[in-house]
Amino acid sequence: MQEPGDRPRGGTPRPAIPHAITRTDTGLEVEWSPGEPAVVMPARALRLACPCASCREEMTGRRLLDPASVPQDVAPQALELVGGYGLRIRWSDGHGTGIYTFETLRRWGGTPPDPDA
Ligand SMILES: [Zn+2]
Repeated sequence: MQEPGDRPRGGTPRPAIPHAITRTDTGLEVEWSPGEPAVVMPARALRLACPCASCREEMTGRRLLDPASVPQDVAPQALELVGGYGLRIRWSDGHGTGIYTFETLRRWGGTPPDPDA
């Protein structure tokens, strides 16, 4: 693990690297800084907002995933850190190719973008 200070990025005061991530049956709890209350990210909204190429058109961001194909009770089954910048989530519906960058998760907070909006 690199220390955040090892790779400064222009304009970014500090990289978005969570202190702790907890998987639950209903979503993720992300503690961005020690002692800060964890941000609860609901599972299905996260799944529907999957950024991978088969769920989302890369150039336009248009959603390719049919929400009806995702179970209401979809749950994260496993988390995998990716290169110190993001998180791959293996979902109970068998999907697991999306990489959620920490920056994106931080920007979303507790409300991943509504795919139907
Ligand atoms: Zn996907």
